[in-house]
Amino acid sequence: ARPVVAVVGRPNVGKSTLVNRILGRREAVVEDVPGVTRDRVAYDAEWTGRDFTLVDTGGWEVDATGIHLRVAEQAEVAVELADAVLFVVDATVGATDTDEAVVKLLRKSGKPVVLIANKVDDNRTEADAAMLWSLGLGQPYPVSAMHGRGTGDALDAVLAVL
Ligand code: GDP
Ligand code: MG
Repeated sequence: ARPVVAVVGRPNVGKSTLVNRILGRREAVVEDVPGVTRDRVAYDAEWTGRDFTLVDTGGWEVDATGIHLRVAEQAEVAVELADAVLFVVDATVGATDTDEAVVKLLRKSGKPVVLIANKVDDNRTEADAAMLWSLGLGQPYPVSAMHGRGTGDALDAVLAVL
């Protein structure tokens, strides 16, 4: 069976942009405003000759009172179905409480996680990526989903754990 890789993280960190970058086409919906309700969407993906299913997440509503919970719930379902997880954090923002909440459930899942430090568009932002070692998920992979920087190394890392 094709392995399943789930892309999880807070709204607006660039999950769908990363999915499109990996697919090499624009299928996942990219939003400047977080919180548009969408279901999990699965795509057929391929990297270095290996086929896998890539699951974009983002089917939650912005709810000021419950956003942490909603992000965590959404991520939890996707993670349950996944063989490995691409956990996306916005390196320019740094780790938030919501990110920490997702880390907790990722740990609980026992699934292999590759930490993506996204929005590292240039060398200046590399130091921001390094700050994410603090999440305790190992090496943060600096990536610019928008420009394609670093995505190859991150994909190599996820395929290595499948
Ligand atoms: P999602 O909610 O996590 O799926 O995030 P989206 O993929 O919809 O992206 C949210 C916003 O971040 C959009 O305006 C994207 O253009 C922007 N974005 C995504 N990746 C990058 C990146 O690598 N660098 C920069 N500068 N912006 C990005
Ligand atoms: Mg999205």
